[in-house]
Amino acid sequence: MAEPKKRLTSTRSGNRQSHDALKETTFVVCSNCKSKILPHRVCKVCGFYKGKKILVLKDEKKKVKKAQEELKDE
Ligand SMILES: [Zn+2]
Repeated sequence: MAEPKKRLTSTRSGNRQSHDALKETTFVVCSNCKSKILPHRVCKVCGFYKGKKILVLKDEKKKVKKAQEELKDE
């Protein structure tokens, strides 16, 4: 295997590692349901983005199916 030609100084390692720290995740508040969400992404709790309904969530699909079945039964 290849070997390093020269020893790395602590300064050089430190300079490289100065960019390795993890940043804290930033959250924004959903305008519709007030839950914490990642910025520039659709809210997974209510399916809203920029005040508009974008996603139809699984729970809502079930509700719609149930409502349709109830209508059929009547
Ligand atoms: Zn939301």
